[in-house]
Amino acid sequence: MADIGFIGLGNMGGPMAKNLVAAGHAVKGFDVTPSAVTAAEAAGIVPVETAVATAADVEVVFTMLPAGRHVRGIYLGEDGEGVVAAARPGTVMIDSSTIDISSARAVHAAAAAAGHLMVDAPVSGGVAGAEAGTLTMMVGGADASFEAAKPYLEIVGGKVIHAGGAGNGQVAKVCNNMILGISMIAISEAFTLGDKLGLDPKVLFDISSTASGSCWAMLHHNPVPGIVETAAANRDYKPGFATAMMHKDLQLAQAAAQEAGAATPLGAEAAALYTLFANAGNADLDYSAIIKLIAGKTETA
Ligand code: NAD
Repeated sequence: MADIGFIGLGNMGGPMAKNLVAAGHAVKGFDVTPSAVTAAEAAGIVPVETAVATAADVEVVFTMLPAGRHVRGIYLGEDGEGVVAAARPGTVMIDSSTIDISSARAVHAAAAAAGHLMVDAPVSGGVAGAEAGTLTMMVGGADASFEAAKPYLEIVGGKVIHAGGAGNGQVAKVCNNMILGISMIAISEAFTLGDKLGLDPKVLFDISSTASGSCWAMLHHNPVPGIVETAAANRDYKPGFATAMMHKDLQLAQAAAQEAGAATPLGAEAAALYTLFANAGNADLDYSAIIKLIAGKTETA
């Protein structure tokens, strides 16, 4: 069994670290939020005072942090005094945060230069997937790093896919979520149009869900209440997958598109609509609530 350091014990990181403990590993953890540390301690994670101390004498480091600046800060540190410098050479480093591709690749390069085995492994599946250990893990990194990280990824995830070299896990994540954001807006437009023209949304669903318009968001996250039982639309759009998260992922996709010189006009439009919706006070609603904006049914937007 391995000694593992886990940095970022929030909504996702907390349950992921707990699953590593349940699999028999010795996990120590660090978070800047005291309540996250207390909850982790109750789940069998040993609290540590600093990020650097969390990584100093372990075989594996996991990070699950909000954004690229946090990941750069933790790994690279001020004046190069971060986790990369503190860890023993050959440490397996797994960053599961969803971050910008440039930051992911910068941290990869520093880790490789110090002799570590790094992967970026952003996830899909939300808090429920983190708790159940069924996350989909999209993994970027060298073959040797992927093989070294795989046994640990398979504990926190149900599906582990090697997407290619450094940063490619993040590339897969932003591309996938750009599809999801665009398709949610498309569904919202179609169901709003159908409704205005007198078509019962349930009938449209019966037809479209088995016809050429069908897609994952329609089948699983349908934005109209009363159609898909488990959808957030049936619980006043309580997330689920928050608008704030979709907004962040679409912004990351746009930053990546600009850097790569890729034209993503629908991705840009989706990012703008989610910015509008989030700025109007809806960031905490499920992302499927964007149908309110499309239908003109939100007081705040
Ligand atoms: P969260 O805010 O609940 O957790 C992040 C944790 O990081 C917090 O506890 C925070 O205190 C801690 N943190 C911040 N800076 C730190 C630092 N310098 N040192 C130590 N700890 C620090 O967020 P989350 O929902 O767990 O999401 C984490 C990542 O996973 C994000 O990148 C998010 O985009 C991604 N993600 C989230 C979901 C989801 O449904 N929540 C789904 C897929 C991906």
